[in-house]
Amino acid sequence: MNKILILVVEDDTPVRNLITTTLRTHNYNYLTAANGQEAIMEASSYNPDIILLDLGLPDLDGVEVIQKIRTWSNTPIIVISARSEDSDKIEALDAGADDYLTKPFSVEELLARLRVTQRRIAFMQNNVMSNSVFTNGSLRIDYAAGRAYLGDTELHLTPIEYKLLCLLSKNVGKVLTHTYITQKIWGSNWDNNVASLRVFMATLRKKLETKPNSPQYIQTHIGVGYRMVRVE
Ligand code: CA
Repeated sequence: MNKILILVVEDDTPVRNLITTTLRTHNYNYLTAANGQEAIMEASSYNPDIILLDLGLPDLDGVEVIQKIRTWSNTPIIVISARSEDSDKIEALDAGADDYLTKPFSVEELLARLRVTQRRIAFMQNNVMSNSVFTNGSLRIDYAAGRAYLGDTELHLTPIEYKLLCLLSKNVGKVLTHTYITQKIWGSNWDNNVASLRVFMATLRKKLETKPNSPQYIQTHIGVGYRMVRVE
């Protein structure tokens, strides 16, 4: 039995019904909202575990809804958008969304994203208890010592590579945009320096990934950013 409560924000009734039917079939509890104001009210009253949010709502822009909710809550938000343009996804992710699904999406895709998000929630809860060492597959980061290991071998990272790895690990499961990463690593002066970021990411991957061309730990989201995935 799944005790997770999901808030479904979608004004398009057939799509909303598809989502709620899927959730019901897989034993998720859910609430629904058909516009932005309702979404904000339900999010504040019921404190859902995950929010599925359509970006094109009749009253408020989905990005505004994310900004409002983020003023008090860190609940994972998965954006669902008919707009396939990268700029909308990026705006939503920069506003604090965790992941995105592009319409049309399959039921399997939706369930997969929910599982990823649930693993992220579980990981974050466990990690609060022992937050000085991060492990993921054979990767281990000892934040206190400032060292990273792959199996028994220490990774020899430059300070920037190490900062990048820490940033991705602390947000494991979440898509981080180019802007977010460059601002965290270099500060706002380096805004949009995506080319430099690519170079550092390539050298980090060479050290981290067994096969840099089919990376296991760090996913590329073309035109959007990067995500560290949980490795079993
Ligand atoms: Ca819509």
